Amino acid sequence: MKCPFCPGELKKGTIPFHIDRKGIHVTLDSVPALICQLCGQSLFEESEMKTIDEVVTALDKRSKKLERAA
Ligand SMILES: [Zn+2]
Repeated sequence: MKCPFCPGELKKGTIPFHIDRKGIHVTLDSVPALICQLCGQSLFEESEMKTIDEVVTALDKRSKKLERAA
């Protein structure tokens, strides 16, 4: 698979991913991603994007609960 930003080749690997939501900081140490061998750009595949989206949505819901309790 080719990198959309340069002529480099994308390779499967893992990268750390940080989520910052309203004072909540979550770090995922190794999220599967495609990493460009040339420019270092990392891209998530659709399934990982979806999972990250679910994590962020869940965080939002839970953090609202905490705000209400405070
Ligand atoms: Zn690239």
